[in-house]
Amino acid sequence: IAKKEIDTDAVRKTTFDDVAGLEEAKEEIYELVKFLKAPQKYSKLGAKIPKGILLVGPPGTGKTLLAKAVAGEAGVPFFSLSGSEFVEMFVGVGAARMRDLFEKAKAKAPCIIFIDEIDTVGRNRGKAGAFQANDERENTLNQLLAELDGFDSDTGVIVLAATNRGDVLDPALLRPGRFDRHIHLELPGLKERAAIFAVHMMPLKLNKEVDNELLAAQTPGFSGADIANICNEAALIAARREKEEVESVDFMDAIDRVIGGLEKRSKIIT
Ligand code: ATP
Repeated sequence: IAKKEIDTDAVRKTTFDDVAGLEEAKEEIYELVKFLKAPQKYSKLGAKIPKGILLVGPPGTGKTLLAKAVAGEAGVPFFSLSGSEFVEMFVGVGAARMRDLFEKAKAKAPCIIFIDEIDTVGRNRGKAGAFQANDERENTLNQLLAELDGFDSDTGVIVLAATNRGDVLDPALLRPGRFDRHIHLELPGLKERAAIFAVHMMPLKLNKEVDNELLAAQTPGFSGADIANICNEAALIAARREKEEVESVDFMDAIDRVIGGLEKRSKIIT
């Protein structure tokens, strides 16, 4: 089993500048950055910072990005695992892996633990009835609950977890002292999409007629991940066309391609 808890991306340092829009979420989460930089300032006053924070929002809205940015801004290690990595494993491994993750993180505190797709592990146990009881998943969830209860908020470990659906989570996960603080991320509006285009256009060599606001107007309903994809696709198209600069027409074709991809994706789902 591959060991990949430490995300090397975080070493490349993600900051809040990489996160466009999401102003409220950034503001809410900024306190964590301050805490991680100087946990003793908080503990000296007896102030308790939440241990677990749930990031809730549709796919591609920047949950992972925001978590990495917290680590990057605070300059602390980022330990990340996805819910599915705990569950698709041999019996007993999920819980052991959870224990291992927290152990490693505590040794490197202050730091961030990020659990993506927490619903894979933390789905409401009461609603599992229709499926076969999944002991392995339940063991992993119990281990997570024990880990969350097993350290003090002044340890300097903050657990961020992401899900597309907060409503399916086991209530035990949401109790005080566990994931009791929720931050909601929405799909970007017009202004935010323009800002996300601007972030992802930064590394590209652009023709000066390329207009991020115009592109934003043409991409209603697109997520940040879709926009990142469009920008990269536009650059690839321009390269294939042997251009010196990425032009508007390359972006238009990239939008068509990404829309094509999205349509295919929804056909597979329905
Ligand atoms: P999922 O639920 O599918 O895991 P997510 O919400 O965690 O998605 P991310 O993985 O953070 O989404 O986003 C994917 C990529 O999309 C990011 O690496 C980034 O390039 C881009 N992106 C998403 N949101 C934003 C944003 N607000 N600003 C800039 N880039 C963004």
